[in-house]
Amino acid sequence: MNKTIKDQIIFVLEDDNELMTAALDGDLDAENKQMNRELIQRHEQILAKLDKGEPLGQEDLQLVRDANEIHVNDAANLNGRHEEAIELEAWLDNMIELSMEAAMKILEEYLDRDPKTPVRVYRALHTLWEEATPNGIATGPGFDDSGRCLKCGSRVAFADVTDMLVSVGDEIVKRYDGDITNRNCVRCTYPKQYPGLQHFDEADAK
Ligand SMILES: [Zn+2]
Repeated sequence: MNKTIKDQIIFVLEDDNELMTAALDGDLDAENKQMNRELIQRHEQILAKLDKGEPLGQEDLQLVRDANEIHVNDAANLNGRHEEAIELEAWLDNMIELSMEAAMKILEEYLDRDPKTPVRVYRALHTLWEEATPNGIATGPGFDDSGRCLKCGSRVAFADVTDMLVSVGDEIVKRYDGDITNRNCVRCTYPKQYPGLQHFDEADAK
C-alpha cells in the first residue's frame, strides 16, 4: 500500500467519524445513533490495523469504499481530496473480491457500449453465468418495471401463461385466463428466435 492510498484511507475514515460523532449530538433517533457508534468503532479498528501495518480484510475494504464514496462524488473538489479519492477507488477495485454478479455486470456494461455486440456474445455470457450458478439459484434474467431485461436491455420476452380449462370429456366448456408463470428474455434465452423479433426492440428504441 503506497502512502497516498494509506493517507486517503486515514483521511476518509477520520472525516466520516468526525461527521458521525457530530451527529451524535444532534436529533438522530436512538437506532441511528447506535449505528453511528458501531460504525465509528469499526472505522477505529481499521485505523488501528493500518497503524500496526496489518492487512485489511474484505469487510474493512468495503467500509473504506463506503467512506470514500462521498469524496469520489465530490467532482467540484470541495474537500480538496477528489483526486486522491479516485485513486483510492481504483486501488479498491483491485483489492475487493468480485462476486459473480458484480463480474457479470462489469462485462455486460462493456458489451452494451458497443451496439454491434453480437447476440451470441450475450448468450455466451449467460451460459457462463448459469454454469457458475449452483442449481436452483439461477432464475434467469429479471426484468425492470418497464419490462426491460436486466441483463441485455431487450423488451422482447416469451411468457408462459397457464390457463385453467374446464373440460367435460374431450370438450372444453370453460376457460379461466391465467397469469404469466414464467417470462424469459428472448435475446438472452432463445437467441436463435431473436432476429425474427428484434424489430420490436428497434421500434422501441425510436
Ligand atoms: Zn435479455
